Amino acid sequence: MRVANVSGRLSLVTGPGRALDVELASEGRFASDVQSVYERWDEFVEFAAGLEADPAGELTVSPETFGNPVPAPRQVFAIGLNYADHADESSFSVPEEPPVFTKFATSLAGPYGEIVLPQGNVDWEVELVAVIGRRAHRVAAENAWSHVAGVTIGQDISERLLQRVGPAPQFSLAKSYPGFGPIGPVLVTPDEFPDRDNLELGCLINGEQMQKGQTSDMVFPVPELIARLSAVTPLLPGDVIFTGTPAGVGLGRTPERYLAPGDELVSYVRGVGEMRHHLVAGS
Ligand code: ZN
Repeated sequence: MRVANVSGRLSLVTGPGRALDVELASEGRFASDVQSVYERWDEFVEFAAGLEADPAGELTVSPETFGNPVPAPRQVFAIGLNYADHADESSFSVPEEPPVFTKFATSLAGPYGEIVLPQGNVDWEVELVAVIGRRAHRVAAENAWSHVAGVTIGQDISERLLQRVGPAPQFSLAKSYPGFGPIGPVLVTPDEFPDRDNLELGCLINGEQMQKGQTSDMVFPVPELIARLSAVTPLLPGDVIFTGTPAGVGLGRTPERYLAPGDELVSYVRGVGEMRHHLVAGS
């Protein structure tokens, strides 16, 4: 199942360029509000499974109408240094505990459009994003996937100068300028993948491949992250976890390279789709 936010309304993607408006298709049983579906995730999965193969009310949709499929999570978790090759390029050793930070809610954005560049060194980090579908508190890794509604693509855009200001790293603030947390274009349920623990992800700038990795290379795979986070903090339906980025960020290059006005950033996870953003100069 592929869930989308089409023009701000909860939708199910039924085919290329085709989607079903859930409020209409369910005759009001499910609201159009996208975020609220995660509170009733099990019920929604059951409803979607019962839909006819060719349901009435399908609409033709264009990509630019797709917004963030998780527009208002109560908690946003992000994980640093979760791929050994990225830890290495960042001059850190592979962590024994996952470093955790947040991206503040106002940084979240949709899968297409412009990202305004603030002053500084603005870097890219393509990531798999896991979305919680069932409350998770003290969940063991072997049961963790059953608490996941689905996965999507995220970019953990980061300003590297602010990130290193002060006595301790300012990850949360430096990764939370407006537009620094785009998510989308669709949430895909884990059953859609041949192997949900091994997905290819990557990003390109102006057509040049900058990052390419496999989620099977995570230091702490999705189930382990959920186990460790939920050992401390209950994870709530609709919460978002940015799961870390593989090698190939601008900070790790010689010479270092950062996003510039006019750049086009394409981010993908195979089996999910791609996001496409244009970088523009700030005022
Ligand atoms: Zn990151």
